[in-house]
Amino acid sequence: MSKKVLVLGEVRDGELRNVSYEAIAAAKEIAAGGEIVAVLCGEGMSNHGQTLLHYGADRVVLAEHALLNEYSTDGYVQALLQVIDQEKPEGLVLGHTALGKDMSPRLAARLESGLISDVTSLEKVGEEVIFTRPIYSGKAFEKKVIQDGLIFVTIRPNNIPPLELDESRSGDVSTLSVDVKDLRTIIKDVVRKASTGVDLSEAKIIVAGGRGVKSTDGFKPLQELADVLGAAVGASRGACDADYCDYSLQIGQTGKVVTPDLYIACGISGAIQHLAGMSNSKVIVAINKDPEASIFSVADYGIVGDLFDVVPLLTEEFKNVLV
Ligand code: FAD
Repeated sequence: MSKKVLVLGEVRDGELRNVSYEAIAAAKEIAAGGEIVAVLCGEGMSNHGQTLLHYGADRVVLAEHALLNEYSTDGYVQALLQVIDQEKPEGLVLGHTALGKDMSPRLAARLESGLISDVTSLEKVGEEVIFTRPIYSGKAFEKKVIQDGLIFVTIRPNNIPPLELDESRSGDVSTLSVDVKDLRTIIKDVVRKASTGVDLSEAKIIVAGGRGVKSTDGFKPLQELADVLGAAVGASRGACDADYCDYSLQIGQTGKVVTPDLYIACGISGAIQHLAGMSNSKVIVAINKDPEASIFSVADYGIVGDLFDVVPLLTEEFKNVLV
Protein backbone atom coordinates (compact mmCIF):
# COMPACT_ATOMS: atom_id res chain seq x y z
CA MET A 1 0.00 0.00 0.00
CA SER A 2 1.42 3.40 -0.92
CA LYS A 3 2.17 5.87 1.85
CA LYS A 4 2.70 9.58 2.25
CA VAL A 5 6.17 10.16 3.71
CA LEU A 6 7.54 13.39 5.19
CA VAL A 7 11.25 14.22 4.97
CA LEU A 8 13.04 16.98 6.84
CA GLY A 9 15.44 18.96 4.64
CA GLU A 10 18.46 20.01 6.70
CA VAL A 11 20.19 23.29 5.97
CA ARG A 12 23.49 24.27 7.54
CA ASP A 13 25.44 27.44 6.81
CA GLY A 14 22.94 28.22 4.07
CA GLU A 15 23.55 24.89 2.27
CA LEU A 16 21.31 21.86 2.05
CA ARG A 17 23.03 18.87 3.58
CA ASN A 18 23.41 15.75 1.41
CA VAL A 19 21.57 13.70 4.00
CA SER A 20 18.39 15.53 2.92
CA TYR A 21 18.66 13.94 -0.54
CA GLU A 22 19.48 10.56 0.99
CA ALA A 23 16.37 10.88 3.19
CA ILE A 24 14.26 11.43 0.06
CA ALA A 25 15.69 8.23 -1.47
CA ALA A 26 14.87 6.32 1.73
CA ALA A 27 11.40 7.85 1.80
CA LYS A 28 10.78 6.64 -1.77
CA GLU A 29 11.29 3.04 -0.62
CA ILE A 30 8.93 3.51 2.32
CA ALA A 31 6.34 5.37 0.25
CA ALA A 32 6.02 2.56 -2.33
CA GLY A 33 4.69 4.94 -4.95
CA GLY A 34 3.12 7.34 -2.44
CA GLU A 35 3.87 11.02 -2.08
CA ILE A 36 7.14 12.42 -0.67
CA VAL A 37 6.67 15.75 1.08
CA ALA A 38 9.85 17.58 2.05
CA VAL A 39 9.77 20.10 4.89
CA LEU A 40 12.13 23.04 5.34
CA CYS A 41 12.14 25.15 8.49
CA GLY A 42 13.02 28.85 8.58
CA GLU A 43 12.68 31.86 6.31
CA GLY A 44 13.92 32.26 2.73
CA MET A 45 14.08 28.55 1.92
CA SER A 46 12.23 28.45 -1.41
CA ASN A 47 15.41 27.89 -3.50
CA HIS A 48 16.27 24.91 -1.35
CA GLY A 49 12.71 23.70 -1.88
CA GLN A 50 13.33 23.57 -5.63
CA THR A 51 16.51 21.55 -5.08
CA LEU A 52 14.62 19.02 -2.98
CA LEU A 53 12.11 18.64 -5.82
CA HIS A 54 15.01 18.01 -8.21
CA TYR A 55 16.20 15.25 -5.89
CA GLY A 56 12.85 13.48 -5.93
CA ALA A 57 10.48 15.15 -3.46
CA ASP A 58 6.95 15.47 -4.91
CA ARG A 59 5.99 18.51 -2.88
CA VAL A 60 7.64 20.91 -0.44
CA VAL A 61 6.22 22.62 2.65
CA LEU A 62 8.11 25.64 3.95
CA ALA A 63 7.50 25.95 7.68
CA GLU A 64 8.20 29.64 8.11
CA HIS A 65 8.96 31.53 11.28
CA ALA A 66 11.84 33.82 12.23
CA LEU A 67 12.52 31.68 15.30
CA LEU A 68 13.28 28.73 13.02
CA ASN A 69 16.19 30.45 11.27
CA GLU A 70 18.46 28.89 13.89
CA TYR A 71 17.85 25.35 15.06
CA SER A 72 16.36 24.76 18.49
CA THR A 73 14.81 21.51 19.66
CA ASP A 74 11.64 23.18 20.92
CA GLY A 75 11.16 25.31 17.80
CA TYR A 76 11.71 22.53 15.27
CA VAL A 77 9.57 20.04 17.17
CA GLN A 78 6.72 22.56 17.40
CA ALA A 79 6.99 23.33 13.67
CA LEU A 80 7.16 19.70 12.58
CA LEU A 81 4.19 18.77 14.76
CA GLN A 82 2.14 21.41 12.94
CA VAL A 83 3.27 20.17 9.51
CA ILE A 84 2.51 16.58 10.57
CA ASP A 85 -0.91 17.69 11.77
CA GLN A 86 -1.60 19.25 8.37
CA GLU A 87 -0.12 16.46 6.24
CA LYS A 88 -0.96 13.35 8.30
CA PRO A 89 1.95 11.32 6.90
CA GLU A 90 2.41 7.58 7.39
CA GLY A 91 6.20 7.86 7.32
CA LEU A 92 8.80 10.33 8.57
CA VAL A 93 12.52 10.38 7.69
CA LEU A 94 15.23 12.56 9.27
CA GLY A 95 19.01 12.43 9.02
CA HIS A 96 20.84 10.80 11.92
CA THR A 97 22.79 14.02 12.30
CA ALA A 98 23.36 16.16 15.38
CA LEU A 99 19.99 17.80 14.65
CA GLY A 100 18.15 14.56 13.90
CA LYS A 101 19.60 12.81 16.94
CA ASP A 102 18.59 15.74 19.11
CA MET A 103 15.00 16.22 18.01
CA SER A 104 13.77 12.79 16.88
CA PRO A 105 13.28 11.21 20.35
CA ARG A 106 11.29 14.23 21.51
CA LEU A 107 9.22 14.21 18.33
CA ALA A 108 8.59 10.47 18.67
CA ALA A 109 7.47 10.99 22.27
CA ARG A 110 5.12 13.82 21.28
CA LEU A 111 3.66 11.67 18.49
CA GLU A 112 3.53 8.61 20.76
CA SER A 113 5.26 6.71 17.96
CA GLY A 114 8.20 4.34 17.75
CA LEU A 115 11.50 5.36 16.18
CA ILE A 116 14.21 3.39 14.42
CA SER A 117 17.37 5.45 14.64
CA ASP A 118 20.68 5.32 12.74
CA VAL A 119 19.40 3.25 9.81
CA THR A 120 22.20 2.29 7.40
CA SER A 121 20.10 0.45 4.81
CA LEU A 122 16.57 -0.59 4.04
CA GLU A 123 15.01 -3.27 1.89
CA LYS A 124 11.51 -4.08 0.73
CA VAL A 125 10.23 -7.58 1.41
CA GLY A 126 6.66 -7.79 0.14
CA GLU A 127 4.73 -4.97 1.77
CA GLU A 128 7.21 -4.59 4.61
CA VAL A 129 10.27 -2.34 4.77
CA ILE A 130 13.11 -3.87 6.78
CA PHE A 131 15.53 -1.39 8.31
CA THR A 132 19.11 -2.31 9.21
CA ARG A 133 20.94 -0.47 11.99
CA PRO A 134 24.23 -1.08 13.78
CA ILE A 135 24.33 -2.18 17.42
CA TYR A 136 27.13 -2.79 19.94
CA SER A 137 29.22 0.05 18.46
CA GLY A 138 28.97 -1.37 14.96
CA LYS A 139 30.04 -4.92 15.86
CA ALA A 140 26.64 -6.31 14.85
CA PHE A 141 23.59 -5.23 12.88
CA GLU A 142 19.92 -5.68 13.68
CA LYS A 143 17.00 -5.68 11.28
CA LYS A 144 13.76 -4.05 12.33
CA VAL A 145 10.29 -3.45 10.97
CA ILE A 146 7.54 -1.12 12.14
CA GLN A 147 4.28 -3.02 11.91
CA ASP A 148 1.93 -0.43 13.30
CA GLY A 149 1.60 3.34 13.19
CA LEU A 150 4.01 5.93 11.87
CA ILE A 151 7.17 4.64 10.19
CA PHE A 152 9.63 7.05 11.79
CA VAL A 153 13.34 6.56 11.07
CA THR A 154 16.59 8.52 11.13
CA ILE A 155 19.18 7.56 8.50
CA ARG A 156 22.94 7.62 8.92
CA PRO A 157 24.56 10.07 6.46
CA ASN A 158 26.50 8.61 3.51
CA ASN A 159 24.83 5.21 3.50
CA ILE A 160 21.71 5.43 1.35
CA PRO A 161 22.49 6.69 -2.15
CA PRO A 162 20.43 9.73 -3.21
CA LEU A 163 18.42 9.74 -6.43
CA GLU A 164 20.05 11.35 -9.46
CA LEU A 165 19.58 15.12 -9.61
CA ASP A 166 16.96 15.82 -12.27
CA GLU A 167 16.28 19.51 -12.84
CA SER A 168 13.18 18.75 -14.87
CA ARG A 169 11.42 17.41 -11.77
CA SER A 170 8.97 19.93 -10.38
CA GLY A 171 6.25 20.15 -7.77
CA ASP A 172 4.28 22.42 -5.52
CA VAL A 173 6.10 24.52 -2.92
CA SER A 174 3.71 25.88 -0.30
CA THR A 175 4.24 27.94 2.83
CA LEU A 176 2.84 27.13 6.25
CA SER A 177 3.13 29.96 8.78
CA VAL A 178 3.79 27.95 11.88
CA ASP A 179 3.22 29.13 15.40
CA VAL A 180 6.43 28.92 17.41
CA LYS A 181 6.30 30.07 21.02
CA ASP A 182 7.52 29.63 24.57
CA LEU A 183 10.98 28.50 23.46
CA ARG A 184 13.06 27.55 26.46
CA THR A 185 16.24 28.29 24.54
CA ILE A 186 16.75 31.43 22.47
CA ILE A 187 19.79 31.40 20.16
CA LYS A 188 21.36 34.86 20.44
CA ASP A 189 24.51 34.25 18.49
CA VAL A 190 26.27 31.33 16.84
CA VAL A 191 30.03 31.35 17.19
CA ARG A 192 31.58 28.95 14.72
CA LYS A 193 34.98 27.39 14.97
CA ALA A 194 37.11 28.08 11.91
CA SER A 195 36.52 25.10 9.66
CA THR A 196 39.15 23.48 7.49
CA GLY A 197 36.67 22.86 4.71
CA VAL A 198 35.06 19.49 4.09
CA ASP A 199 32.47 18.41 6.69
CA LEU A 200 33.66 15.21 8.40
CA SER A 201 30.30 13.50 8.76
CA GLU A 202 29.45 13.83 5.06
CA ALA A 203 32.98 13.53 3.61
CA LYS A 204 33.51 10.95 0.88
CA ILE A 205 37.21 10.69 1.77
CA ILE A 206 38.76 11.08 5.23
CA VAL A 207 42.45 11.22 6.13
CA ALA A 208 42.66 10.55 9.87
CA GLY A 209 45.62 10.88 12.20
CA GLY A 210 46.33 9.22 15.51
CA ARG A 211 48.89 9.58 18.26
CA GLY A 212 51.43 8.45 15.67
CA VAL A 213 51.41 11.95 14.11
CA LYS A 214 53.24 13.01 17.30
CA SER A 215 52.41 16.75 17.25
CA THR A 216 50.11 19.43 15.84
CA ASP A 217 52.62 19.91 13.02
CA GLY A 218 52.44 16.18 12.36
CA PHE A 219 48.93 16.77 10.95
CA LYS A 220 50.35 18.99 8.18
CA PRO A 221 51.26 16.16 5.76
CA LEU A 222 47.80 14.67 6.39
CA GLN A 223 46.14 18.01 5.58
CA GLU A 224 48.21 18.24 2.36
CA LEU A 225 47.04 14.77 1.32
CA ALA A 226 43.46 15.71 2.22
CA ASP A 227 43.69 18.90 0.14
CA VAL A 228 44.79 16.96 -2.94
CA LEU A 229 42.02 14.39 -2.48
CA GLY A 230 39.28 16.89 -1.53
CA ALA A 231 39.08 15.02 1.76
CA ALA A 232 38.30 15.93 5.36
CA VAL A 233 40.81 15.46 8.15
CA GLY A 234 39.79 13.38 11.16
CA ALA A 235 41.53 12.05 14.24
CA SER A 236 41.58 9.37 16.91
CA ARG A 237 40.89 10.28 20.48
CA GLY A 238 44.55 9.56 21.18
CA ALA A 239 45.50 12.50 18.95
CA CYS A 240 42.80 14.73 20.49
CA ASP A 241 43.77 13.82 24.07
CA ALA A 242 47.40 14.61 23.26
CA ASP A 243 46.22 18.06 22.09
CA TYR A 244 47.50 17.56 18.55
CA CYS A 245 44.08 18.62 17.20
CA ASP A 246 40.61 19.72 18.18
CA TYR A 247 38.04 17.29 19.61
CA SER A 248 35.68 18.23 16.79
CA LEU A 249 37.84 15.94 14.61
CA GLN A 250 37.44 12.90 16.85
CA ILE A 251 36.07 9.78 15.18
CA GLY A 252 34.81 6.84 17.17
CA GLN A 253 32.44 5.67 19.84
CA THR A 254 32.51 9.00 21.66
CA GLY A 255 33.24 11.06 18.56
CA LYS A 256 31.73 11.18 15.10
CA VAL A 257 30.55 8.09 13.26
CA VAL A 258 31.63 8.25 9.63
CA THR A 259 31.09 6.13 6.55
CA PRO A 260 33.21 7.60 3.76
CA ASP A 261 34.06 5.82 0.52
CA LEU A 262 37.74 5.95 1.53
CA TYR A 263 39.23 6.18 5.05
CA ILE A 264 43.00 6.59 5.34
CA ALA A 265 44.13 5.91 8.94
CA CYS A 266 47.61 7.24 9.69
CA GLY A 267 49.36 6.29 12.94
CA ILE A 268 46.16 4.95 14.51
CA SER A 269 46.40 1.67 16.43
CA GLY A 270 42.77 0.62 15.82
CA ALA A 271 41.29 0.51 19.32
CA ILE A 272 37.75 -0.87 19.40
CA GLN A 273 36.39 2.57 20.32
CA HIS A 274 37.96 4.06 17.20
CA LEU A 275 36.73 1.24 14.97
CA ALA A 276 33.19 1.89 16.25
CA GLY A 277 33.25 5.17 14.36
CA MET A 278 34.83 4.17 11.04
CA SER A 279 34.76 0.42 10.42
CA ASN A 280 31.79 0.75 8.05
CA SER A 281 33.85 2.89 5.67
CA LYS A 282 33.74 1.40 2.19
CA VAL A 283 37.53 1.15 1.69
CA ILE A 284 39.99 1.44 4.58
CA VAL A 285 43.69 2.10 4.08
CA ALA A 286 45.90 1.85 7.19
CA ILE A 287 49.40 3.25 7.52
CA ASN A 288 51.19 2.12 10.66
CA LYS A 289 54.76 1.21 11.47
CA ASP A 290 53.65 -1.67 13.70
CA PRO A 291 52.71 -4.67 11.53
CA GLU A 292 50.71 -6.08 14.48
CA ALA A 293 48.50 -2.97 14.87
CA SER A 294 44.79 -3.90 15.16
CA ILE A 295 43.84 -1.35 12.51
CA PHE A 296 45.17 -3.81 9.90
CA SER A 297 42.44 -6.30 10.86
CA VAL A 298 39.77 -3.96 9.39
CA ALA A 299 41.91 -2.48 6.60
CA ASP A 300 41.38 -3.34 2.94
CA TYR A 301 44.90 -2.11 2.21
CA GLY A 302 47.67 -1.95 4.78
CA ILE A 303 50.97 -0.09 4.49
CA VAL A 304 53.56 -0.96 7.13
CA GLY A 305 55.80 2.07 7.35
CA ASP A 306 56.47 5.47 8.83
CA LEU A 307 53.57 7.80 8.04
CA PHE A 308 55.98 10.70 7.58
CA ASP A 309 57.54 8.80 4.63
CA VAL A 310 54.38 7.23 3.25
CA VAL A 311 51.89 10.13 3.38
CA PRO A 312 54.03 12.62 1.35
CA LEU A 313 54.66 9.87 -1.24
CA LEU A 314 50.91 9.32 -1.56
CA THR A 315 50.34 13.07 -1.87
CA GLU A 316 52.88 13.32 -4.69
CA GLU A 317 51.38 10.33 -6.51
CA PHE A 318 47.82 11.65 -6.19
CA LYS A 319 48.99 15.08 -7.37
CA ASN A 320 50.34 13.46 -10.55
CA VAL A 321 47.08 11.62 -11.14
CA LEU A 322 44.51 14.17 -9.99
CA VAL A 323 45.91 17.68 -10.35
P1 FAD B 1 47.75 4.74 20.03
O1 FAD B 1 46.94 3.60 20.50
O2 FAD B 1 48.83 5.25 20.91
O3 FAD B 1 48.35 4.33 18.63
C1 FAD B 1 49.29 5.07 17.91
C2 FAD B 1 49.69 4.22 16.72
O4 FAD B 1 50.55 4.98 15.90
C3 FAD B 1 50.43 2.95 17.08
O5 FAD B 1 49.79 1.83 16.48
C4 FAD B 1 51.83 3.14 16.49
O6 FAD B 1 52.38 1.93 15.99
C5 FAD B 1 51.54 4.12 15.39
N1 FAD B 1 52.67 4.97 15.03
C6 FAD B 1 53.49 5.68 15.84
N2 FAD B 1 54.36 6.41 15.13
C7 FAD B 1 54.10 6.14 13.83
C8 FAD B 1 54.66 6.61 12.61
N3 FAD B 1 55.65 7.50 12.58
N4 FAD B 1 54.16 6.12 11.45
C9 FAD B 1 53.15 5.22 11.46
N5 FAD B 1 52.58 4.76 12.58
C10 FAD B 1 53.04 5.22 13.76
N6 FAD B 1 39.33 6.46 20.69
C11 FAD B 1 38.95 6.99 19.52
O7 FAD B 1 39.75 7.08 18.58
N7 FAD B 1 37.67 7.46 19.35
C12 FAD B 1 36.74 7.39 20.33
O8 FAD B 1 35.62 7.84 20.12
C13 FAD B 1 37.12 6.83 21.58
N8 FAD B 1 36.22 6.71 22.57
C14 FAD B 1 36.61 6.10 23.75
C15 FAD B 1 35.64 5.89 24.75
C16 FAD B 1 36.02 5.25 25.91
C17 FAD B 1 34.98 5.03 26.97
C18 FAD B 1 37.34 4.82 26.10
C19 FAD B 1 37.74 4.11 27.35
C20 FAD B 1 38.29 5.02 25.12
C21 FAD B 1 37.94 5.67 23.92
N9 FAD B 1 38.87 5.90 22.92
C22 FAD B 1 38.45 6.40 21.73
C23 FAD B 1 40.32 5.68 23.15
C24 FAD B 1 40.83 4.40 22.55
O9 FAD B 1 40.67 3.35 23.49
C25 FAD B 1 42.33 4.53 22.21
O10 FAD B 1 43.04 4.91 23.37
C26 FAD B 1 42.63 5.54 21.12
O11 FAD B 1 41.81 5.30 19.99
C27 FAD B 1 44.10 5.43 20.73
O12 FAD B 1 44.42 6.40 19.78
P2 FAD B 1 45.59 6.14 18.74
O13 FAD B 1 45.32 4.90 17.97
O14 FAD B 1 45.80 7.39 18.00
O15 FAD B 1 46.85 5.99 19.70
